[in-house]
Amino acid sequence: MMKKYLKDLLSLIYPNVCYNCDIALVEGEDKICLRCFRDFPLTNYHETDPNPLIQIAAGNEKVKGAFCYMKFNKEGVAQKLLHELKYKGNDTIGLLLGEWFAKYIEREISSLELDGIIAVPLHKAKRRKRGYNQSEVIAKGIQNVTGLKIFRDALIRTKNVSTQTKKGKVERWQNVDPLYQVVDNDSIIGKKVLLIDDVITTGATISMAAEALVGSGVDEIYFGCIASGK
Ligand SMILES: [Zn+2]
Repeated sequence: MMKKYLKDLLSLIYPNVCYNCDIALVEGEDKICLRCFRDFPLTNYHETDPNPLIQIAAGNEKVKGAFCYMKFNKEGVAQKLLHELKYKGNDTIGLLLGEWFAKYIEREISSLELDGIIAVPLHKAKRRKRGYNQSEVIAKGIQNVTGLKIFRDALIRTKNVSTQTKKGKVERWQNVDPLYQVVDNDSIIGKKVLLIDDVITTGATISMAAEALVGSGVDEIYFGCIASGK
């Protein structure tokens, strides 16, 4: 009760503002104003030939397609929203991003007749620290729109190292001692899955996760991410 009272009071003093442009939101707008929403830098990669995200998976013939919601620009809207999700404990924005993304690619997704979604996992220590896996939150948003099953805990991350800063090292490890491991083969063997990561930068992370899935019998993989700098 007190909490609600405080919340109402706070919204009088600090009205909800757009995460991107800081103007006050009006009825029907959630986190982002309509104007910024219309200006999202959509990628349209799935209709681009060649698709720049498929190229990062070159060599993995089970990766059949890739979808990306927004272009990642420094200080851009995707960076702002993902920063909220990853470093400010704002999982609501992740859910919304997942829902918006799913609506953006809904037609393509439904024509693929996928079996489900797999979120690129975090190492359990990192997940504990953040309180959630941001890619899983995005996957949940996609599920809200598409009704697709999420294969939870089928894939795990075995090491808590950065793939960005130690890319070369990680790639060597992946060969001898994989960074991602499938722990529930039965649920995903022969399946068509949408593999979700929040951001694709070098592509090392999602490619390694895809390799682990293919090694365990996943039949088709489609990449999906909220933003990419490709
Ligand atoms: Zn705005």
